Amino acid sequence: MSIQISIVIPLFNEEESLPVLMQWIEDTLKNKFSYEVIFVDDGSKDNSWKVLNELAAKYPQVKGIRFRRNYGKSAALNEGFKAVNGEVVVTMDADLQDSPEEIPELYEMVTDKAYDLVSGWKKKRYDPISKTIPSKFFNKVTSIVSGIKLHDFNCGLKAYNAEVVKSIEIYGEMHRYIPVIAKKAGFDKIGEKVVSHQARKFGTTKFGLERFINGFLDLLSIIFVTRFGNSPMHLFGTIGILSFLAGFFMTIYILGEKMYRIAQQQPFRDVVDQPLFYLALLVIVIGVQLFLAGFLGELVSRNNRARSKYEVRERV
Ligand code: UDP
Ligand code: MG
Repeated sequence: MSIQISIVIPLFNEEESLPVLMQWIEDTLKNKFSYEVIFVDDGSKDNSWKVLNELAAKYPQVKGIRFRRNYGKSAALNEGFKAVNGEVVVTMDADLQDSPEEIPELYEMVTDKAYDLVSGWKKKRYDPISKTIPSKFFNKVTSIVSGIKLHDFNCGLKAYNAEVVKSIEIYGEMHRYIPVIAKKAGFDKIGEKVVSHQARKFGTTKFGLERFINGFLDLLSIIFVTRFGNSPMHLFGTIGILSFLAGFFMTIYILGEKMYRIAQQQPFRDVVDQPLFYLALLVIVIGVQLFLAGFLGELVSRNNRARSKYEVRERV
């Protein structure tokens, strides 16, 4: 029988939580679903890998992948996604903040209701306020910018149609924006489910306040790359030409005005005496620079164009 659910769990120094989590998953899913659990050890410095070996010996569903060093949650998820065999892929955090009891319903939403992606929503959160308030703002901005109506983009607990995770690539800190990436890849049936949330029992959070700055920059990158990644000239060239033309017409105006005044024998100022002249100079230079940035962008994007431009869904 094929596997119904693949659970991908990225972890970094979570030794105490792992056995409890695995037992909880087993208790929730056994005799109901066929499943596998893929733990990705993101370079833990504690005994997590040893614990995973013990778990793999105890439970046949457990698979472990270990990074040589800490590459971050996105890399861990990406690697886990490559290894999945199930129809539905569920991701969750290893720290026991997400509950495996949500999995059966998430599975149903992806299979019966045909969602491409269902994101958890920690409506009632057990995190410090320094995290929940910025997070609200953050989710609002992401929702407006991306046009995806979710309340909790960064929730670790999500379920996907396996096709989604095989079609997207996440790197850097992009795990916060998987719904945005999925949508850009053409998976637009994105749903949300309120999930229960616990306070962290063991260990500490792995992300500090820098998450908000990095997170915002990542959002800008995603929007830029998905919109203009294949055609940087469209963005830079357009602004560059507009800027250049503005400067060009200002120059014509300045010269025209001077010649007119000379012809009319009126008093006139030197061209270099006028503020407009410097402005014209500036926007012409900026325009040319933008244009060059567009060309450079085209050269760079040419190298990976074949890979990133489009993807075939199926063939008959
Ligand atoms: N994590 C990871 N690599 C990292 C940081 C975190 O695999 O570099 C894992 C971590 O072990 C946990 C999940 O990502 O399973 C979420 O991390 P955490 O609970 O620290 O984030 P928070 O709940 O504070 O947002
Ligand atoms: Mg956590």
